[in-house]
Amino acid sequence: MQEENKVAQTYDKVLARVKEVCLKSNRDFSKVNILVVTKYANQEQIRQLLSKRQVFAVGQSKLQDTLTKFSGPQLKNFKVKKFFIGHLQTNKAAKVLETFDLICSLDSLHLAEVLNKQAQKQNKKALCLLQIKLTDKQTQSGLKIEEVPAFIEQVQTLYPNIELKGLMAIAPQGAPEEIKAAFKKAKAVFDNHFKEQDYLSLGMSGDFEIALEQGSNLLRIGSAIFD
Ligand SMILES: *Cc1c(COP(=O)(O)O)cnc(C)c1O
Repeated sequence: MQEENKVAQTYDKVLARVKEVCLKSNRDFSKVNILVVTKYANQEQIRQLLSKRQVFAVGQSKLQDTLTKFSGPQLKNFKVKKFFIGHLQTNKAAKVLETFDLICSLDSLHLAEVLNKQAQKQNKKALCLLQIKLTDKQTQSGLKIEEVPAFIEQVQTLYPNIELKGLMAIAPQGAPEEIKAAFKKAKAVFDNHFKEQDYLSLGMSGDFEIALEQGSNLLRIGSAIFD
């Protein structure tokens, strides 16, 4: 097997697993998107994938790393959508808004305020997913589920340049049953506040099968592709 094809082939294997779970759990594969998380991948690995496969979007958690990787000679000619998945500090909001097509990690009203202001300056909408928290851990960012309704209402009334496109959450650490229950909760919140065509982003390399079964339509997969 040629080394050149390895990343594309690993990607295909992930796709095959996604398809299989869709079949088993009665999900429409054409409505499931894969955010290819490139934060651990080097430019050459990313180039190999992008030159062989059309991907929905790439996910990055750090601004500087994104600029370095994607403006470098190997990748600058690839047109690919970029989603920001890391914790966003307000001092980076302007540049993140310029660089990324969607921010998956809106987690405070203060950040919403800053993003709204920057989006107005840049004469665009800031497309965002609300990050919700599925654990009680202090270290995890995200809104508590019970804070979601008021948050959405405030964003809609106060920040016209923010467009909420769905929810993002990271699974709690735990047994599959625990993860499943947490994803179920996220799906219920999603169904209450968003439309089917919005994004419910649950699931990473270790738990995307459970996430798919529970209704995720935007899997965020890194290490399973770039292993
Ligand atoms: C790193 C990261 C991922 C991808 O994780 P893998 O386990 O490598 O698939 C997904 N979502 C977020 C928010 C991340 O930070």
